[in-house]
Amino acid sequence: MQLYKKQKLKVHNSLTGKKEDFVPINEGHIGMYVCGPTVYSFVHLGNCRTFMSFDMIFRYFKHLGFKVRYVRNITDAGHLENDADEGEDKIAKKAKLEQIEPMEVVQRYTVDFHNTLQQFNLLPPSIEPTATGHIIEQIEIIKEIIENGFAYVVNGSVYFDVVKFNESHTYGKLSGRKLEDMIANTRELTAQSEKRNPQDFALWKKAEPQHIMRWPSPWGDGFPGWHLECTAMSTKYLGETFDIHGGGMDLKFPHHECEIAQSEASCGKSPVKYWLHANMLTLNGKKMSKSTGNNIYPSEIISGENNILSKPYSAAVVRFFMMQAHYTSILDLSDDALQASEKGYLRLMEALENLPKLPTSATSDFDVQAWRQKCYDAMNDDFNTPILISNLFDAVKRINLVKEGKETLSEADKNLLVDTMSAFIHDVLGIENQAHSDDNSQTLNGIVELLIGLRNEARANKDFATSDKIRDELNALGVQLKDGKDGTSFTIN
Ligand code: AMP
Ligand code: ZN
Repeated sequence: MQLYKKQKLKVHNSLTGKKEDFVPINEGHIGMYVCGPTVYSFVHLGNCRTFMSFDMIFRYFKHLGFKVRYVRNITDAGHLENDADEGEDKIAKKAKLEQIEPMEVVQRYTVDFHNTLQQFNLLPPSIEPTATGHIIEQIEIIKEIIENGFAYVVNGSVYFDVVKFNESHTYGKLSGRKLEDMIANTRELTAQSEKRNPQDFALWKKAEPQHIMRWPSPWGDGFPGWHLECTAMSTKYLGETFDIHGGGMDLKFPHHECEIAQSEASCGKSPVKYWLHANMLTLNGKKMSKSTGNNIYPSEIISGENNILSKPYSAAVVRFFMMQAHYTSILDLSDDALQASEKGYLRLMEALENLPKLPTSATSDFDVQAWRQKCYDAMNDDFNTPILISNLFDAVKRINLVKEGKETLSEADKNLLVDTMSAFIHDVLGIENQAHSDDNSQTLNGIVELLIGLRNEARANKDFATSDKIRDELNALGVQLKDGKDGTSFTIN
């Protein structure tokens, strides 16, 4: 029997503001859409947190035996500066700055995104569609919205008519905002604006002659609005109504609100059964953000090259740190917090390694079955990873007591404990044992430093045959030495 038939899951639905029983539309199957990155710069650790939260959710669904179709898009056009309807496309702007093609920008940062997520041990989604690959689908949805009377065309652009929509539907149901208040709080439209109302949003924008990212449409050359992409891609791969839509809290309004409006205005159905929002990662108490520069990149944490942290931390420790917070809570990154996570992580990995070697007895002092259900209960309660981790540490205590001969464990309980610990740590939390790879890389660095020392001695003795041999043979092994003012540094491929 699949685990999901025994484990009753509850999720916090942002649409209702309540924890609800999770019942998928089709039994045993889950359709999940998560807004992906806009690939115009390197992903920062805040972005990674959101994707890691949904990776953990994806992993738990799979662990429970659901067949999951997980769609996470790549936004490679249409996302304008300040998330607004005016201004430059973020990708085109970067392309101009770097004097390369927009698609080179897209390629570069998509590759970085994939490499980074792989370092943090995220599973690839089932489908990773791009906005530029779905222009036709977007145009079709706009046609439907116009036909249904909820959009208007002005001078080659198409706008969603929020006021008209709100007469028969509710705009603001996800964010809890009221259209009247929004209207009361906005300034008058600027004289040159084409919109009937400041709350209206672009479905299609006319491309000015200098705009490079453009496609033909029934309304002339242009490009799609950012909100529309997600509606087109989620509908195409998951249907008009699907189980879960996720993203960072900051996307709730206007992005996700607009997605709901677009679906209701085109096919007449609300698109999503459960809206899940992951909370922000902060640095020094402020939201990490690409635009403000208050951020840290994963590579800076792993290499230790930053001004914020006292030492490097491995990707597994960073992932463990993220999992120690509930996905709906704000999490602040600090050196103290990472150091504490590193200690906990090492304690957990050590217990996991000791576990198979523990002696067994005829009886057990530890009720492993009951403990195992507590782990599920934590995850079934809206993916409560901090409680799960505290249960894992309860097991660590018991493992250490058995190791010290102070408690007993039966063979069957030991096997169940091995399976459960490894399932939750590796399969669900996605935490790998990098404790030894950290040791190994420290040893490797030490060996290279030693060889650099020997090479310096050889050079001082004018024994250039030896010094060149060390450099060339290290090079052949993928270790490049670089001689500089402050001595010799190295990189390992
Ligand atoms: P973007 O590439 O800016 O569209 O962002 C990609 C994802 O990262 C979105 O789901 C955002 O909500 C999320 N995100 C952005 N900043 C943060 C942050 N500081 N903490 C957590 N998630 C974030
Ligand atoms: Zn989206």
